Amino acid sequence: MEHVYHRLRRKLTRWRYAGRRFHCPVCDSWVRTFLPFGLPPRPHAMCPVCESVERHRLYWLYYQRRTDLLEPGPSRRFLHFAPEMGLQRNLRTLTSLRHVSLDFVSPFVAIRADLCSLPLADSCAQIVHCSHVLEHVADDRAAMAELYRVMEPGGWGLIQVPVWSDDPTFEDPSIIDDVERERVYGQHDHVRIYGPDVLDRLREAGLQVTVVPASHFLSPDECERYAISSSEEIFHCHRPAGTTPPPARP
Ligand SMILES: [Zn+2]
Repeated sequence: MEHVYHRLRRKLTRWRYAGRRFHCPVCDSWVRTFLPFGLPPRPHAMCPVCESVERHRLYWLYYQRRTDLLEPGPSRRFLHFAPEMGLQRNLRTLTSLRHVSLDFVSPFVAIRADLCSLPLADSCAQIVHCSHVLEHVADDRAAMAELYRVMEPGGWGLIQVPVWSDDPTFEDPSIIDDVERERVYGQHDHVRIYGPDVLDRLREAGLQVTVVPASHFLSPDECERYAISSSEEIFHCHRPAGTTPPPARP
């Protein structure tokens, strides 16, 4: 149960920033501005009320408009890696979902786990959400194989990474120094810069990947209102029905 302090704080912030220019679909707030966020700061990036950033708003709109996630139905297990707070709050209100939070470092999750070695049974989840995690994981292919393994045949999920380059993915395992990683990868805790070929890696793990641009489910006016770039993309990953887990990696 969320602490009353956090709900009160959001209520006061919603009142303080009230306006008609931007709308946050995650916390359903109309505000006069979103806040700058990131390095370098992106203007109108973060909702002042729930602290969602552009991609969080994009995911929630995608779930609302292009999936059956919010529809009542049989109970489904939803694995939420490195959970974004605003999304988690919303997902936990859905009675048809059994929401399970996981993280490698945060103590505020249900399961502390290494993404490359999940303490979960094969095919235990119908839906997974893993956003902006793999760029921190040294063996991302092992992590993708685990995501595939725990996903039920016929299951699906959003597996997102930052794609900051049109070049092939760059990684150099000899770079282990934080300062050097920041210089080469743009962030001290990243271990690669993904290019569009990340889709090949996901497909090599057995997943079918459909790339859905924001412009396919948001109008230009909505992109303005939600402060989302129309070129943002969803990586909708699907484990084909009838597939068996891949053999264990050596
Ligand atoms: Zn918000």
